[in-house]
Order: sequence, then structure tokens, then C-alpha cells
Amino acid sequence: ISADHRRGGTFLAQIKKAAVIGAGVMGAAIAGHLANAGIRTLLLDIVPREVNEKEQVKGLTLEDPAVRNRFARMGRERLLKEKPAPLFHKSMMDRIEIGNLEDDLERLSEVDWVIEAVVENLKIKQDLFSRIEGVWNPGTIISSNTSGISIHDMVQGRSEEFRAHFLGTHFFNPPRYMKLLELIPTADTKDELVQEMKAFAEGRLGKGVVLAKDTPNFIANRIGVYGLAVTFWKMLEENLGPDEVDAVTGRAMGRPKSATFRTLDLVGLDTFIHVSDNVRENVEDPEEKKAFEVPALLQEMVDNGWLGSKSGQGFFKKV
Ligand code: NAD
Repeated sequence: ISADHRRGGTFLAQIKKAAVIGAGVMGAAIAGHLANAGIRTLLLDIVPREVNEKEQVKGLTLEDPAVRNRFARMGRERLLKEKPAPLFHKSMMDRIEIGNLEDDLERLSEVDWVIEAVVENLKIKQDLFSRIEGVWNPGTIISSNTSGISIHDMVQGRSEEFRAHFLGTHFFNPPRYMKLLELIPTADTKDELVQEMKAFAEGRLGKGVVLAKDTPNFIANRIGVYGLAVTFWKMLEENLGPDEVDAVTGRAMGRPKSATFRTLDLVGLDTFIHVSDNVRENVEDPEEKKAFEVPALLQEMVDNGWLGSKSGQGFFKKV
């Protein structure tokens, strides 16, 4: 696909290959959703700093691709292990190619759409977009899955042309089932790209698209994360347990599984803290700021490695 063709027109039929950067809770599942929609996807993560025990037993070193691609491989494998039913079929997962940011960065020039889904931290995301710009093939769409960091700020310092092809594409967890997709253009994003992304996400990815302004946490998380945070504070004040809160906010409300604390486990407690910090630092209203203060208990859990479902232990133990 030539850059001119992309610039001139329909992205809709043109997204044949994508790359997702960050193979965590969201990145891997977004890659799975794209693969499920027939899009070949490159899934990249950072290179691990150390060889783990299993790898040592096999005599592997940090130079081996098996080690270098570990995070992306684990991300892809997780998609097949979900219980009670796997989220995806193996044949679809074969459309996901794994790699790492050190060895495969240049391969981003092969794809039509790059989705960033790394840790919720402005500086890390800014650095990544600066590296991506270095290998960027003009015309390629670039987007971020941030939960609420300013889309504009992430690409400050990047070229006008790059910024014109950049927007927020905020998927919800789990992306396979959650219908909503927020698209967050900046003042620099090409209108045409936003319209075509919307049509693509609705037509090809089966999403219900909402266009959101580039305000802290956009729309759904500004409300949803506020609700979770306020419930958390209430629980602590009123001495309730996660079971009790989930009993009234889960099944009783017709939500089969994902009540308040189970949702926090699914989101990831570390990610929830990053998201809360971001809103607290960027909203004016003191009441809202107060709601997004992170309770010491939550921070202690994260410091203990209790990150939620992804680490096997959060408010509930993952069995
Ligand atoms: P995660 O912690 O599960 O995964 C983050 C991934 O980023 C990890 O695989 C990690 O190795 C990688 N990473 C860390 N530092 C990096 C670096 N310097 N460069 C590249 N990769 C790096 O996080 P997640 O829950 O998948 O969240 C990813 C993004 O999606 C965040 O911006 C988050 O706010 C957003 N998001 C999360 C949810 C959710 O429910 N968890 C929902 C919607 C959006």
C-alpha cells in the first residue's frame, strides 16, 4: 500500500496489517481481537532485563529470541488460556507474530496501523512515539490505548505530519467483549482519518464508537473510574469487604461477574493507580481530586506484587 494511496483515501479496506506495542492485559487482547478480525498483527514488548529460572534451566541467555520475545509470547499464550472458555481460537492466534522493541522496531514500517498499549505513563509513551517516528512510514496510522493521558501531550515535539496521523483509540477491557471504543482526535488529527477509523472500527472490529474530547480520562473512564474510586473509599470508611461490595454491585445489578472489586482485579491495580494519579493531577475540582487519591491499602497491595488477575492475586485470588 503506497503512502499516497493511504493519504488519499480509504483506510477502511487498507488496514491489513497492524502492530500492537505492549503485550500486557490490553495489548495482547487487542492483538487477539484484530487477529480475530482477520488482520495480521505484530505484537511487541520490551526485552526482559533478566533470564528467568525456566530459561536458565534451558541454558538460554539474554541474546536468545525466546528470551527477548518472552513478554509478547506470554501475551499471546494468555489469549489461549483464558477460562472458562478461551477467548480465541488457536488458528486466529497464528495471525499474531511476536517480537520485541529492540530487534523489531523497524518492522513498524511494514504495517498500516500501530497501536501503543504500554504502561500508563506519559514519559514512557512520549519516548516511544519519538522512537516510532524514527521508523515511521508516512501515512501509517498511529494510536494510543491510554486510559486517560492527554493525547495531545503524548506527541508534543513530533512532526506535524506524524501528529496528523495520530489519535487515541481507547478499547475497553476485555476488548473481545466490550463493545465501546472511544476515538480521541486532537486538533492536529486529520478529520478524514477520524471518520475512516470510525467506519473501520464499526464495520471491521464490531465496535460502537464514541468520539471523545482530549480531557483527562475522556468520557467512560472519567465516570467509571470515579465510581470505582468512590466505592473504594466508601468501603474503607464503612468497613465493608470486597465480597460484600461485589454482592450488591455485581449479580444484584445484573452483572454476572465484573462487580466493583472484580473489575479492579481485571483492570490491574497498578494500572488503576496510574489512571487515578493522572486524573487527580489534571482535574481542578477539589472534590474530584479527593476521590482520586489512592488509598494506602491499594498502594500496599501493589507494592506486594498483588496486581490483580494478571499476577494471580488482587482483591480475589485468581484460580
Ligand atoms: P499492563 O501492565 O498489563 O501491560 C503493560 C505492558 O507495557 C507490559 O507488557 C510491559 O512489559 C510493557 N512496558 C512497560 N514498560 C515499557 C516500555 N518502556 N516500553 C514498552 N513497553 C513497556 O498494562 P495494560 O493494562 O495492558 O495497560 C496498557 C495501556 O492500556 C495503558 O495505557 C492503560 O491505561 C490502557 N488501558 C488499560 C485498561 C485495563 O483495564 N487494564 C483498559 C483500557 C486501557
